[in-house]
Amino acid sequence: MFYADYHIHTSFSSDCQEEMENQIKKAIDIGLKEIALTDHVDFDYPDPQFPFMIDYDKYLIEFNKLKEKYKEQINIVLGVEIGYQPHIVKELEDFLAIYNFSFIICSMHVCDRLDLYNGDFFEGKNQKNAYLRYFECVLDNVKGYDNYDVYGHIDYINRYGNYDNKILSYEDYLDIIDSILKIIIESGKGIEINTSGFRYGLGHPSPQFPILKRYKELGGEIITVGSDAHRKEDICFSFDYAYEMLRKAGFSKITVFRNRKPYFISI
Ligand SMILES: [Zn+2]
Ligand SMILES: [Zn+2]
Repeated sequence: MFYADYHIHTSFSSDCQEEMENQIKKAIDIGLKEIALTDHVDFDYPDPQFPFMIDYDKYLIEFNKLKEKYKEQINIVLGVEIGYQPHIVKELEDFLAIYNFSFIICSMHVCDRLDLYNGDFFEGKNQKNAYLRYFECVLDNVKGYDNYDVYGHIDYINRYGNYDNKILSYEDYLDIIDSILKIIIESGKGIEINTSGFRYGLGHPSPQFPILKRYKELGGEIITVGSDAHRKEDICFSFDYAYEMLRKAGFSKITVFRNRKPYFISI
């Protein structure tokens, strides 16, 4: 049985139709002890189709109501998935100062103001240049911004991009990935295993195994496991695989958060 799913969206995210209560009920049904709801906040998202902004005053009313309603069955953690871009740091800080999040995932969905999801970022770049530029942006991100708890889907770049073989050859980006992981560890942050890679046909979660193993070798301990579920069916999707991967990489614990502080749960 799995303990927690730490990356779940609800219909408050503009790319998700699933009601918050459905996600919670499903998590209870499969026996989870806790979940983190981590809806999207992406300031200045380049694609106007997805205004990733949430009315948090409204959100919190629903969240608090359901947290109370189901408190005997499950602990629901108020989380958020922020999309980092260097020019929106002030907005992010102002936003995060208002609300009392217990858990913050920092993700890069937009690089050089170009959307990865719709493919704009890949225009005119070969695979090597695109992947390298993405990691340079992540490196700048972790160097210049630390108001988060775990870095989201750290090799997100291989989810999109119209290349024949999307799989990332870890060896080609070893130095820059090491630099990123070291900063994350030194600043007391963590990473997540995000199992949505299976749903994108990648055949592995994010990060892929060599990166997870390297993170452990470098001293990384803080690790959450999340499905990135946008539908209730996807809660804990492929978690057996993720847990196996964790054990293989040498982890015996996963991480949960209370008021931004990590706590460790044996697996
Ligand atoms: Zn994301
Ligand atoms: Zn997400």
